[in-house]
Amino acid sequence: MNRSLELFSAAARVIPGGVNSPVRAFKGVGGSPRFIAEASGAFVTDVDGKRYIDYVGSWGPMILGHAPQSVIAAVQQAAAKGTSYGAPTEAEIQLAEKIIELVPSIEMVRLVNSGTEATMSALRLARAATGRDAIVKFEGCYHGHADALLVAAGSGAATFGVPSSPGVPEGAAKDTLTLPYNDIDALKALFAQRGGEIAAIIVEPVAGNMGCVLPQPGFLQALREVCDQSGALLILDEVMTGFRVALGGAQALYDIKPDLTTLGKVIGGGLPVGAYGGRRDIMEQISPAGPVYQAGTLSGNPLATAAGLATLEAISQPGFYDPIVARCAQLVEGIGQRLDAAGIPHLGYHVGTMFGLFFTEQSAVRNFSEAAKADHERFKTWFHGMLDEGVYLAPSGYEAGFVSAVHDDDLIEQTLAAAERVAKTL
Ligand SMILES: *Cc1c(COP(=O)(O)O)cnc(C)c1O
Repeated sequence: MNRSLELFSAAARVIPGGVNSPVRAFKGVGGSPRFIAEASGAFVTDVDGKRYIDYVGSWGPMILGHAPQSVIAAVQQAAAKGTSYGAPTEAEIQLAEKIIELVPSIEMVRLVNSGTEATMSALRLARAATGRDAIVKFEGCYHGHADALLVAAGSGAATFGVPSSPGVPEGAAKDTLTLPYNDIDALKALFAQRGGEIAAIIVEPVAGNMGCVLPQPGFLQALREVCDQSGALLILDEVMTGFRVALGGAQALYDIKPDLTTLGKVIGGGLPVGAYGGRRDIMEQISPAGPVYQAGTLSGNPLATAAGLATLEAISQPGFYDPIVARCAQLVEGIGQRLDAAGIPHLGYHVGTMFGLFFTEQSAVRNFSEAAKADHERFKTWFHGMLDEGVYLAPSGYEAGFVSAVHDDDLIEQTLAAAERVAKTL
């Protein structure tokens, strides 16, 4: 008997859907999730002893691969001195200084425990700073599960075919205006009409929660422009892209300066960390420097801070990104060649160490409705074929994949060989 299957039914008795975060449940691809026993380097091993080359990387954080020695040692050393004090520590200053050094638009930063907390808090701050209520988000972008942001929210929700969620009061969602991603005309039209009511635009500068969808040339600049004209703030949600698409995030790659940035995933090196930061004059409005309340019992705790610091130290070594970015390109282009050879229409996207694949005859995927038109049935076959081959991809056609520092040439080749066999079954 398959141990993952046993555990999944045991889990489903005590945990809703058997998982603590919905997309883990394989609902988007059918079948049942692999329960993981351990992970090391580029591999995860399930409870039945099968080992997979992992391109999920805990949904983004594991840019150094699993259980990197430097991060494990830092966490162990920190744990030995106590796991949380609820009082300030020197390491928090070091992590804040490191973030500010790597992301120049961030002049001050507040640590929180998740990406959801970061975006939720950044929105509250933007509303306080502008005295306005409305916010703009883009269809298919995910910014965590706070009420106001759970509107047209991408992967998790899209996988289940619900655009939003019950339990979100109308009042919390009514000030959330949604636009199609990459649509500069719609953006300008909305701001021409309601610019004066809008506190902020929040956007994934590369969308990674509807597959991997790149910003079209000029799109991010247009966001900056309408914000400058209307007095709205620009919040780049770099929870996924931060330290992922480039050392300085998407804002460095695309040369766009936000007022506020939200971070998560890589910043915690696999421990629960998020952060939001930006212009000093805005950040100084946060309690206790200012009146905007936001707090956290475990925020900046020594374990998470140690993991974050060790991770940021490792990724800021000169030349860290170049080989990973090259291998990510090699992976996506290699898969593309094998799908071409098998006559399977598709579009592969990659930026930095992040990638996505759509099975589609469209010439481009630029927004959520185009992502939704891709052949998600074929994705299921692809996903399960690759899984059987020992390659662990995200279990939904609306997710991005991630290459880490320890996915070497040999593993990329093994993945491409698997892709070649699976392509012939599609
Ligand atoms: C993952 C993600 C979040 C939410 O972060 P959590 O740590 O899961 O709460 C927010 N925004 C983006 C862009 C993300 O990818």
